[in-house]
Amino acid sequence: MLVVMNKGATPAEVEAVVGAIVEKGYEARPIPGGERVAICVLHNEGPVDASKFSHMPGVKDTIPVTRPYKLVSRESQAWDTVIDVGGVRIGNGHLIVMAGPCAIESELQALTIARIVKKSGAQVFRGGAFKPRTSPYAFQGLGEEGLKILAKVREETGMPVVTEAIDHEVFDMVEEYADIIQIGARNMQNFSLLRRAGKARKPVLLKRGMAATIDEWLMAAEYLMEGGNYQVILCERGVRTFAHHSRNTLDLSAIPVVRQESHLPIIVDPSHAAGRRDQVIPLSRAAVAVGCHGLMVEVHHAPETALSDGPQSLYPAQFDDLVKQIGPIFGVYKMSTNGCRENRAACVRA
Ligand code: PEP
Ligand code: MN
Repeated sequence: MLVVMNKGATPAEVEAVVGAIVEKGYEARPIPGGERVAICVLHNEGPVDASKFSHMPGVKDTIPVTRPYKLVSRESQAWDTVIDVGGVRIGNGHLIVMAGPCAIESELQALTIARIVKKSGAQVFRGGAFKPRTSPYAFQGLGEEGLKILAKVREETGMPVVTEAIDHEVFDMVEEYADIIQIGARNMQNFSLLRRAGKARKPVLLKRGMAATIDEWLMAAEYLMEGGNYQVILCERGVRTFAHHSRNTLDLSAIPVVRQESHLPIIVDPSHAAGRRDQVIPLSRAAVAVGCHGLMVEVHHAPETALSDGPQSLYPAQFDDLVKQIGPIFGVYKMSTNGCRENRAACVRA
């Protein structure tokens, strides 16, 4: 349940409601931002009796939260979350482009690619220092040396960096260097890692598990928010199907569903969805058209020699094309959806 306070509710009135919720044995979680204070009731088993709070001074309304992912749900926050990463805004009205190699291989490789993607319009640099690889014989990443290179890239280019924390052991180290901490598809339901990320002071990029339903994915995001980390970015990266024409199947339908269900920003990773570079640009166009808040794309200046995911990495010229193509599509998306909001009745009739 959500207890919505009047705009002019005093801190003492809010405190009294929080106290009454706690007294019932629940947790009270004030929702940050917005015009008025709203307090989400957590850790209740079964329905909460609204009459206990609805007549308290300063209370405007009590709204049942029907979804199991309470803090993630639009029921508890109607407006879109926008996350600020070093001046780069992610969410509502902004189209973020994150790009870089699958793995950091050397300082020269990372800086070369970073300069290329920045010139084309990327705002965030991606690159794995710890790589979750199917084969134990495959390149596992440079570890801390890779993180140091990422810090150098940030210093030289001004781009914030996103990189994966593959386990508890490396989490503290990744948190220290990264601007956005990635939780990979294979770890989406690693609940102890999610709890650790929930305590992190940095935004978390939560990838959808390769066989996860949308509900499971949003519940994983709830772990992060329940832990106190409200800076969560969702990332659709394709799910496993019977198809052989691509590595995974990009679930484009997830984007409008998640935007309806949740206030969190959602981006798309067409590279891991496709597994082959010829599909990356068309999937990117489609992802922007269905309303994602951005893309995360693998790019390499010499993909033939890449130590990880070369076949799906775009050549620099292709990435440049991609950025040019998605701009107008985002413009049309924004124009059409804004028009729709203004003419809601007409749109519903249509
Ligand atoms: C990655 O982005 O480097 C990665 C390993 O992706 P995923 O977890 O989606 O497979
Ligand atoms: Mn990769």
